[in-house]
Amino acid sequence: MAGGPHARIVPCMECAGPAERTHEGVESDRYRCRACGEEHGVDWRRGPAVAPTWPIPPDEAEAIRRWAAERRAQG
Ligand SMILES: [Zn+2]
Repeated sequence: MAGGPHARIVPCMECAGPAERTHEGVESDRYRCRACGEEHGVDWRRGPAVAPTWPIPPDEAEAIRRWAAERRAQG
C-alpha cells in the first residue's frame, strides 16, 4: 500500500512536473515523471499520504527546481 490512494502522483524531484506511480511497494513506491522521464522512489514508511500529493503550489515547485539546480551545480 505504501503511499496510498492520495499519492498516485507526486512532484518530480528534477523538474517539479507530475510523476506517476509506476510501482507500488510495501514501504516505498516508484514514480516516473510525465514531463522529463526521470524516475525516483518515495519512502512511505512514516505512513501513507493523508492528502493528495498533487498538484503542488507554485512556490513549492520553484523550491524543487532550485534544489535540483543546486544538486546539478554540485555535480
Ligand atoms: Zn521531471
